[in-house]
Amino acid sequence: MKDTRIVIVGGGPAGNSCATHAARLGAKVTMIETDVVGGAAHLWDCIPSKAMIATGGAMSFLRRSAGMGLESADPFVDVEALRTRLGGIEARLQGQMSDLLLSQGVEMVSGRGRIVDAHTVVADSAHGERVFEADYIVLSTGSRPRIPDWAQPDGERILTTRQSYPPSTIPTHVVVIGSGVTGVEFVHMFSSFGADVTLVVSRQQVLPQKDPEVAAALEADFLRRGVRLFKGARATGIERLDDGVIVLTDDGRSAKGSHALLAIGSVPNSESLGLDNVDIETCDGYITVDHNCRSNLAHIYAAGDLSGKLPLSSVGTMQGRKIAEHIMGVHDRPHRHIDYDKAASAIFTEPEIADVGLAEADAFAEGRKIRVTKVPFSVSAKALINDDTRGFVKIVSDPATGVVLGGSIVGRHAAELISILALAVNSGLHVDDITETLFVHPTLSEVLTEAAE
Ligand SMILES: Cc1cc2nc3c(=O)[nH]c(=O)nc-3n(C[C@H](O)[C@H](O)[C@H](O)COP(=O)(O)OP(=O)(O)OC[C@H]3O[C@@H](n4cnc5c(N)ncnc54)[C@H](O)[C@@H]3O)c2cc1C
Repeated sequence: MKDTRIVIVGGGPAGNSCATHAARLGAKVTMIETDVVGGAAHLWDCIPSKAMIATGGAMSFLRRSAGMGLESADPFVDVEALRTRLGGIEARLQGQMSDLLLSQGVEMVSGRGRIVDAHTVVADSAHGERVFEADYIVLSTGSRPRIPDWAQPDGERILTTRQSYPPSTIPTHVVVIGSGVTGVEFVHMFSSFGADVTLVVSRQQVLPQKDPEVAAALEADFLRRGVRLFKGARATGIERLDDGVIVLTDDGRSAKGSHALLAIGSVPNSESLGLDNVDIETCDGYITVDHNCRSNLAHIYAAGDLSGKLPLSSVGTMQGRKIAEHIMGVHDRPHRHIDYDKAASAIFTEPEIADVGLAEADAFAEGRKIRVTKVPFSVSAKALINDDTRGFVKIVSDPATGVVLGGSIVGRHAAELISILALAVNSGLHVDDITETLFVHPTLSEVLTEAAE
């Protein structure tokens, strides 16, 4: 595969991962990016949202510090300091990513990429047009927030997630529309900053895709904090007032707030990619791909959100790597295809929520025999030491073989702890493999050994 030329369009987690792996494997790689390397993940999505949530977490911790034997404090957000913090994190990550790509010999091109024919990609920029010939093309242009026709974000009072890092003033009362992962993370973020929050939930459960027990734990925490839930209501309009907004819902209710935040999903960045020039198949704008992330054209791949698979940075990164291995012919390992059903995911609320593999509710719906064991963090010495005993660990296993099929964790550090179960699920480990492992004491991970008993 000497001198294989790969052109990648889009430098988010999927594009970067593909570029670095392919370059390491000997390909000549060009990556075209309109904005900054790192992509939406670094600029708008994963990183700034988690950095703001970390600041909010520090505030909640300080408010609850009386339980740790400290004088309790009443912190407030310094918006400018927070903005500087977010900028610093982004600049550092972007610098690291650019250094890595350069050190691998990846050619980085600034511009908007589009396919003109099966083996030609053009990068348009203010300086003109550059043309690149490619043996393989990888499209990884990501997605952007969905804007409904009944709301026009103005960046002042009606916000998308991208206009919230941070808003110029911390809202006094934010109405969050959408109760999926992004919506509930923003509810948590703003409420920990001290804002009143109303959440418009189109179904009867927040996080409709999640295990009902897990969603109930989050709802209970939201209600404890005073978050108002508008359940079974779909937003149909937003009225802008001088000093706020009114969100209207299809059941005739309305929620007044200082700000409204739209968190109702995303749409793919595919319309200006020149897909029609080569007849690439799409579904709702997402590129249709096979288990190797290949489109209907054998030499054109799609990765990350654009592939319409799980919209997670971690998934895009893995897809990028698998594409590089597939193109370069080193695709013969046992883990050569991604099993999306075994991807771990987390929601960075308080308590945190994380899961992997088979969910209890899905197993019941399928009529599948499973063993479910659940242990609350209240039994853990470390949880007591942390003064935070909320949540539980739930493990789903095969009753006949003991193989770990899935699990959910609600509680502090759930997003870190789920990695143990993710390794078990992805490697076919048994519950005994967990109980026989000597974990550190006192740690929250000991609750996993108890749940595996
Ligand atoms: C608020 C929020 C929080 C999130 N938090 C998490 C999280 O905690 N963990 C997690 O795993 N996932 C998270 N996600 C999802 C994650 O951000 C996405 O799955 C991830 O960014 C997708 O990566 P990507 O490489 O496909 O695309 P992106 O990160 O969207 O990058 C695509 C890049 O392509 C560029 N581009 C677009 N069009 C062109 C073109 N024509 N030519 C050249 N370049 C182009 C863009 O400028 C961009 O840089 C979050 C999403 C949101 C909305």
